[in-house]
Amino acid sequence: MPAREGSLEAPTRHRLDWTNPKFYDEEDLFQELERVFDICHGCRRCVSLCQSFPELFDLVDESSTMEVDGVAKADYWRVVDHCYLCDLCFMTKCPYVPPHAWNLDFPHLMLRAKAVKFKQGRTRIRDKILSSTDAVGALASLPGVSTLVNATNQSSLGRKALEVTLGVHPEARIPEYHANTLRKQLATKVSRQARAVGEGAGPTTGKVALFTTCYNNVNEPDVGMDLVAVFEHNGIPITIPVKEKCCGMPKLELGDLDTVKAHMEENIPVLLQLVDAGWDIVAPIPSCVLMFKQELPLMFPEDARVQKIRERIYDPFEYLMLRHKHGKLRTDFKQPLGTVAYHAACHQRVQNLGQKTRELLALIPDTKVEIIERCSGHDGTYAVKKEYHAYSMKIVTPVVNKVRQFKPDYYGSDCPMAGQHIGHGLKDGSSPKHPLTLLRIAYGL
Ligand code: SF4
Ligand code: SF4
Repeated sequence: MPAREGSLEAPTRHRLDWTNPKFYDEEDLFQELERVFDICHGCRRCVSLCQSFPELFDLVDESSTMEVDGVAKADYWRVVDHCYLCDLCFMTKCPYVPPHAWNLDFPHLMLRAKAVKFKQGRTRIRDKILSSTDAVGALASLPGVSTLVNATNQSSLGRKALEVTLGVHPEARIPEYHANTLRKQLATKVSRQARAVGEGAGPTTGKVALFTTCYNNVNEPDVGMDLVAVFEHNGIPITIPVKEKCCGMPKLELGDLDTVKAHMEENIPVLLQLVDAGWDIVAPIPSCVLMFKQELPLMFPEDARVQKIRERIYDPFEYLMLRHKHGKLRTDFKQPLGTVAYHAACHQRVQNLGQKTRELLALIPDTKVEIIERCSGHDGTYAVKKEYHAYSMKIVTPVVNKVRQFKPDYYGSDCPMAGQHIGHGLKDGSSPKHPLTLLRIAYGL
């Protein structure tokens, strides 16, 4: 195909060639980085998305040649380290993604660089700890321990200790840990697996296994309980998998692909058993859904089990709107919501679902939904790290300004961490409300 300015075809994504030894060849990686950075330097469309691109363009502009060949290879890592794989450059900006002949996939190139760094043993211990979300969550949510952890996280002495030991920024918001986890609250629902009957609608079976996610399990279990209340109100029985491991997204963002595989091997058989028994899977965090819908299928394209789960995992609002299309969504809303400033999370946008959350909230009478489609800059761990916190606050500022401008009755995001980060940026003592919580309020449940 001849090279041309921009692609007219829909973007496609190549499999991630992570088991090929060439993937970890540093010389080959640097050649590819130089090729791609040169295209980006000539384009610069992505300058406002994150800090990776300003970092790259500053390096080029301050080099002796004012071209990519003037940038020291060691400085390439400064671009890589600022990428948190939100995927927005690939999905919303780049005209050179496959099938264009330039074959540019900036996020997956950053992922390859992170994987090389990880294989070389140059990843910080701090980053390994912060990305071990299930292990940290299990420890911090132990009865008794959670109270101690929350108190420590709120004291200036505790924050100083966190700053010194883990490089956590003293002003970053740290979530609370709950001993009464979401999985504990839903434990009795496991026994429903044998007898629950769902009413199918379109591609949905009408019975749902909730992948609770590390964050919702220990940090915001209420959002998961809101999902259960809303789905059960709509006649959808809920269960949970007998066991659950982190989806692997935090390890993917670290380039630790072997651990991603280990997590996949633990989750997929359990989820597959549910899917084979007629259960659909839903997860209340867009990044976790994206992991099963996109990243794992690209890492394991030949694994039929992974491909099967990809077909049967849904975003909660995607699920409810699919059922609405077939007349299976209750619209007996009792409570108007007024103005809602709704932040569409990057990892939900890149799933290409359309604006399902906005569409559903807009069905509620006397409710005006103002959508904000900008990255919040949270990324799970980017916002809490000492060296990146200021950048994440810079990225969230336009989102915060939009929320202020709308003077909403409620604000929130599909990503609960993004919602909390926006609340942190507002600095007015307010708290976000997750769209699932808003739906529960609207139903009067
Ligand atoms: S994936 Fe997101 S964070 Fe990474 S370079 Fe693209 S826009 Fe920036
Ligand atoms: S990722 Fe694509 S759109 Fe963004 S700066 Fe590079 S070439 Fe341009």
